[in-house]
Amino acid sequence: MLAVACGSNPSDSATTAGSTAAGDGAAAGSAPAGPGASGSTAAGAASSTPTSTGSGAASTESTTTKADGKTTTTKQQSSTSTTKATEPAPFVVSGPASATTVALTFHTNGDLNQVKAVLDIVEKRNAVLTAFIVGNWLDANPSMGKRLLDGHHELANHTYTHPTFEQLSPANMLSEITKCRDAIAKVSGSGGRFFRLSGTDDGTLKPSNAALLAAATAGYAGVAGFDVDPLDYKDPGSQAVIDRTLQQVKGGSIISLHMGHAGTIDAIGPILDGLAAKNLQPVTLSQLVGVK
Ligand SMILES: [Zn+2]
Repeated sequence: MLAVACGSNPSDSATTAGSTAAGDGAAAGSAPAGPGASGSTAAGAASSTPTSTGSGAASTESTTTKADGKTTTTKQQSSTSTTKATEPAPFVVSGPASATTVALTFHTNGDLNQVKAVLDIVEKRNAVLTAFIVGNWLDANPSMGKRLLDGHHELANHTYTHPTFEQLSPANMLSEITKCRDAIAKVSGSGGRFFRLSGTDDGTLKPSNAALLAAATAGYAGVAGFDVDPLDYKDPGSQAVIDRTLQQVKGGSIISLHMGHAGTIDAIGPILDGLAAKNLQPVTLSQLVGVK
C-alpha cells in the first residue's frame, strides 16, 4: 500500500513558535494535567519522575527484568481511561539547542521489508529512532512492534488511520489517538509518550488547541513537530534527502523522515555518517527532550 504523505504543501513561512519550547528539556510551558487525580505528576516537564500519562489512578507501573538482566519500568495504561484533559499537551519542535543529540523520527507504516531495511541500517550503527506508528498498520503487523522494541527504538503515536487530522471533529481526533495508543500498548505495555498529527505540512506550526487537548486526554506527554524536514515522502531522490537533512540539522533537532520510501532507505546511512561528522548523536525523542 502506498504510504500516505504527511503533507502536501510545505511552506517555509511558518513561525518558529515553540522551537525553543523544549529549552531545558521541559517540553513546553503547559504540561497536560492529570484528570484531577491528586498527586498527578505534570507530564512533559523535564523531571526525572516517570511521565504521568494523564490516566491517573487508572495507570499502573510494572517493572520487568529482561533476559539480558536489564530492568525496565513500563507504565500500563488503561485503554479505557480517557478522562478529558483541561490543559493541552505541550507542542515540541526541537530539543535543547545546546544538545549534542538529535532525534530521527519516522512516519511508520507500509512495506515491512522497507521498514526492516531502515531498522537494519540504523541498528548496525548502534543508533536508535523514534517510530511514529500508524495504528492500523501495527494492528495488522504486531510482530513489528517487537521488532522495534528489540532495537531499543521509541514507539510513538501517529494516529490510527493517518487522516488529515486537523479536519477531524474533537471526538474523532480523540478516537484516532486512543485507537493507535491502544494498538501500541498491546505490543509494548504503554501507549508511548508522544503523539504526532498526520496530514500536516509544517512541523513547526503549532497544532490546534483541540488536537493538543485530545493528545493530553489520551495521556500523551507531548505532541511532536519537527524542525528538519527533507520532504523525503515526495521521493526527491536520496541525495536530496541527505543534503537537505544535513543542511538543516543542528543540535537538538527533530528530523522528520518516512518509512516506505526507497530514497529514504538509501539516504539513512549517509545521514548517520553526516550526523557523526557533526558530532551529533541520534537518540530517542524522549531522551532528546528529557521526558522519561
Ligand atoms: Zn505521516
